[in-house]
Amino acid sequence: MTKAMKKQPFFLPFGGCRGRCVFCNQRAITGVDEVPSPQFVSSILKNLTEPVEVCYFGGSFCRFTFEKIKEYLDAVVNDAPKGSRIRFSTYPGDLQNKKLRSMVLSYPIACVELGIQSLDSEVLSLCRRETDPVAILENMVVLRDENVPLSVQLMIGLPGQTVSSSIYDINKIAEIKGESEWQFRLYPCLVIENTELYEMMNSGEYTPLTVDEAVKWGGRVIDVATSLGFTPIRAGLQESEMLASQVRGGPHHPALGELMFSESIIRKLIRLNPKGPWVLPSSNMSKFTGHRGYGLNRLAELTSMPEKEVAEKLTFFPAH
Ligand code: SF4
Repeated sequence: MTKAMKKQPFFLPFGGCRGRCVFCNQRAITGVDEVPSPQFVSSILKNLTEPVEVCYFGGSFCRFTFEKIKEYLDAVVNDAPKGSRIRFSTYPGDLQNKKLRSMVLSYPIACVELGIQSLDSEVLSLCRRETDPVAILENMVVLRDENVPLSVQLMIGLPGQTVSSSIYDINKIAEIKGESEWQFRLYPCLVIENTELYEMMNSGEYTPLTVDEAVKWGGRVIDVATSLGFTPIRAGLQESEMLASQVRGGPHHPALGELMFSESIIRKLIRLNPKGPWVLPSSNMSKFTGHRGYGLNRLAELTSMPEKEVAEKLTFFPAH
């Protein structure tokens, strides 16, 4: 098995963004105040000895000027150890521009992460995002046809969003994905200090999800995404003291991602074999026993069986 390349992240808070999405406060999420310059990036990369995956996160990478994007990409090619690759997150649709796309794809790109969040134009409008899902999807077709390695980011619990709209979104994206191997990230909508969403919550215009609602919603989306061939690489935001100090509402829980994955596995088990027995690799055991036995309780609830019976029907075998 190929060893995963170490990641070297650089957070570019709001870098390239044309506006502020109502839920977003990159500074609070990343703890980074200023956008580091390409020169700063170079100075860090020059000191590395092993190839890395350089990640530009926290903004809309392809919305910097053409020259600036090139400078960030050149920093990797010129100053990171040979064999290093690049991952960046960007606003979907921006790589529709052929000149920009050709330039970006001439670099060693490990993955382009598209911050789609939702394909529902009503939701996008309430979030103050650009509202043309058709343009997003058309760009994905172009990127797929050019074999660009993609990761799609979706959110749950956005203003005006429903579980069925999320499920519709992931199905719609899967139609384009076809047989391609795309990654998938799922983030809950949290209410963070200094965002418009915080004001919307305070005025009663927005009601955030509870942890329980987010686990069930997220687990369902992950289950569907996995069954459609996406590789989930993250669910939930990276927990940090900074984030914890800035959250004012919503499903904030340090193990939210783990709980969503538990829910998704349970849904898959029931989908494949509604009444058991079920056999799973032992690496999944904590998803049933951890967090006060969430997994076992939930499996019992969804199958209407006593917990003892559910536990007897569940077998773990050592993972190879
Ligand atoms: S969600 Fe993305 S596009 Fe919107 S403000 Fe945040 S970084 Fe910018």
